[in-house]
Amino acid sequence: MAKVWVYAEVGPDGPHPASLELLTKARSIADTVEAVALGPGATQTAVALGDHGAQTVFASDDPVYAEYLAQPAAHALVGLIEEHRPNMVLFATTYDSRDVAGRVQARTGSTLMSNATDVLSLDRVQTQIFGGATVVDVELSGPDPKLVLVRPKSFPAEPAGGTADVVEVNAEIPEDRKRARRAERHEEAAAGPKLEEARVVIAGGRGLQDPANFAILEELASAIGSAAVGATRAVVDAGWVPYSYQVGQTGKTVKPDVYIAVGISGATQHLVGMKGSKRIVAINKDPDAPIFKLADLGVVGDALKVVPKLIEEIKARKP
Ligand SMILES: Cc1cc2nc3c(=O)[nH]c(=O)nc-3n(C[C@H](O)[C@H](O)[C@H](O)COP(=O)(O)OP(=O)(O)OC[C@H]3O[C@@H](n4cnc5c(N)ncnc54)[C@H](O)[C@@H]3O)c2cc1C
Repeated sequence: MAKVWVYAEVGPDGPHPASLELLTKARSIADTVEAVALGPGATQTAVALGDHGAQTVFASDDPVYAEYLAQPAAHALVGLIEEHRPNMVLFATTYDSRDVAGRVQARTGSTLMSNATDVLSLDRVQTQIFGGATVVDVELSGPDPKLVLVRPKSFPAEPAGGTADVVEVNAEIPEDRKRARRAERHEEAAAGPKLEEARVVIAGGRGLQDPANFAILEELASAIGSAAVGATRAVVDAGWVPYSYQVGQTGKTVKPDVYIAVGISGATQHLVGMKGSKRIVAINKDPDAPIFKLADLGVVGDALKVVPKLIEEIKARKP
């Protein structure tokens, strides 16, 4: 009987949204789907994890997992793997889970596949190369469990309406696994929805010409409501906006209902992070910009003139 586990990262707001996506996928490839959640609040995450398909949640609320980076979680996870022998463990490609997955791989000696964009079966996954231009199937060999890091937003999270049994994890964490201590945690102050969760994303590129012009995107976002602002790597590298804004191969993957690309050329490395959006609107002064090939609606014009007009129009139509 195929058994797939999801390593569900626990944060202050509950399970990482990507763990619910992974559970949804796991349901389609295994008859036994279980999750491992470690850290304060882990037991409570069992409700959401169960609802998305976890039949069992191995959970520990021990603060050691939040206080020390990766090592305690990897230690506990390896112990659970040895005891319960899953065929595959899915991790979301996040900073913390990458760290845990790498350490687990070093201990188990099994295959670790990173940056997967789909999981086809217990030994086949998909990834994208050449900036997303080519999709490749990868066959995983070696001993179980196969370890797979999957890009968030690769598939939707769909509840299945189940409940999970909670099995308490009582791993003894040796002192030599408590080396890197998290001294402080800083939440980035942000107004409005998160980039990955917003229904509308307005992303700006070099065509905005000046960092100060990003303000018109913020203004457009607040005129629309439930919208977030993103950016290309070119402007992130130029220091116009923080890295957390970056959409693309080396940034975030977003799948909003509407993606508005403003002054963005449409390089493949950018497209890979937003091409799953339901509707794409592009504003660019160059009619031959590659972004127009992907756009459902293209506006050829100067962004600095078009966007203020759009804001005006939206405000005028609001009751
Ligand atoms: C390994 C690797 C990883 C990468 N990862 C990423 C990634 O994650 N995300 C990402 O975005 N990029 C990534 N890149 C960079 C990518 O290749 C492009 O360089 C980048 O996306 C270009 O950003 P841009 O569209 O803002 O700038 P440009 O390519 O310079 O495009 C600017 C556009 O603005 C238009 N324009 C100019 N003035 C105006 C105006 N007044 N009004 C309207 N339009 C105007 C121009 O016609 C042009 O199309 C990566 C590259 C590499 C090599």
